[in-house]
Amino acid sequence: MNNTYHPTPDGFYGEFGGAYVPEMLHANVAHLQEVYQQIMDEPEFKQEFEQLLSDYVGRPSPLYLAKKLSAIHGCNIYLKREDLNHTGAHKINNTIGQILLAKRLNKKRIIAETGAGQHGVATATVCALMGLECIVYMGAVDIKRQAPNVARMQMLGAKVVPAESGSKTLKDATNEAIRDWINNAEDTHYIIGSAIGPHPYPDMVTKFQSVISEEVKYQLKEKTGKDHPDYVVACVGGGSNAAGAFYHFLHDERVKLILAEAAGKGIDSGESAATSILGTKGIIHGCMTLLMQTEDGQIVEPYSLSAGLDYPGIGPMHAHLIKTGRATVHAATDDEAMQAVIALSKDEGIIPALETAHALAILERIDFKKEDNVVICLSGRGDKDLNTFIDYIDKSK
Ligand SMILES: *Cc1c(COP(=O)(O)O)cnc(C)c1O
Repeated sequence: MNNTYHPTPDGFYGEFGGAYVPEMLHANVAHLQEVYQQIMDEPEFKQEFEQLLSDYVGRPSPLYLAKKLSAIHGCNIYLKREDLNHTGAHKINNTIGQILLAKRLNKKRIIAETGAGQHGVATATVCALMGLECIVYMGAVDIKRQAPNVARMQMLGAKVVPAESGSKTLKDATNEAIRDWINNAEDTHYIIGSAIGPHPYPDMVTKFQSVISEEVKYQLKEKTGKDHPDYVVACVGGGSNAAGAFYHFLHDERVKLILAEAAGKGIDSGESAATSILGTKGIIHGCMTLLMQTEDGQIVEPYSLSAGLDYPGIGPMHAHLIKTGRATVHAATDDEAMQAVIALSKDEGIIPALETAHALAILERIDFKKEDNVVICLSGRGDKDLNTFIDYIDKSK
């Protein structure tokens, strides 16, 4: 068991992970740790999860050979189309799983945090589906920046609560959500939106998202005769789409795992979200991982034009994959990501999310061979970012 990328029973991936929670949440988190795997393994749970992924989300998502992109990079590039899921990204895979879990735990209230609003929309969606009360914490600044997603959540019946403390962005919304959870631990389930947080969240979210690589295996086999790619590339905020795209290849050394993080205005610009490079070991949102912090442990506000990558930490599994050399990280700037959005739109007729575009932007840094099969997790669609795209194109005219 030396060379494993799965967590220990305490939720450690090497030196990262664990569950560092306030005493008042301890019983709740301990209970979740005790039962989550058992619930996820129940045949009826699996059946309900799979049925919803198929009939409600629209899975399996296609694996598409992008011919023009392949020609540009001199290899075979397959796009795993998570952008075609209901609500427009991979996030719904996790919220479907967690709402089913919350129901089995007899929880009546769902809380969530959101930055750009994508996770908030995915959570509000499944709460509407299941008829559970939904409260979404969102930074006051983000509420202003992401008005269409706020409207969506409200349409879906969720209550959006502004976080007015600190920088009024994602980390403050997360603090508010944790405060709510402490006060309502008994009847409330906290749906965390990425492969972060105290154990068991990183493992639980990774397993709900692992449907991505499960499908890639058989889809690639049908198309190429091989059940593994040479590379899997994914963008990383907290790490959930990457975790899901990597999961079934974690222990297959033939598959190179590539993470794309957000350099913002440049790694050394002071306005960046390149956590793996700028981060040091510390505790954020209940787990030990790499995070951007000052010398005395205060969280540094990250920056990226893409709201979904603008998180000061990285999931503990990814910290471990990077530390052990199993995964390689490349960083793309705002400008490089924008160029990649424009290129994919024109070349393939697919407008990707700005987050996703970071995974496309770093392809030119890799020396592919002609026969390489490369799978890119196309984590989401760009509709939500249209205003950002239009502003950018207008500015560069
Ligand atoms: C939220 C989001 C991300 C980043 O989150 P991960 O947990 O790192 O996957 C990436 N792409 C899209 C489209 C998103 O909505």
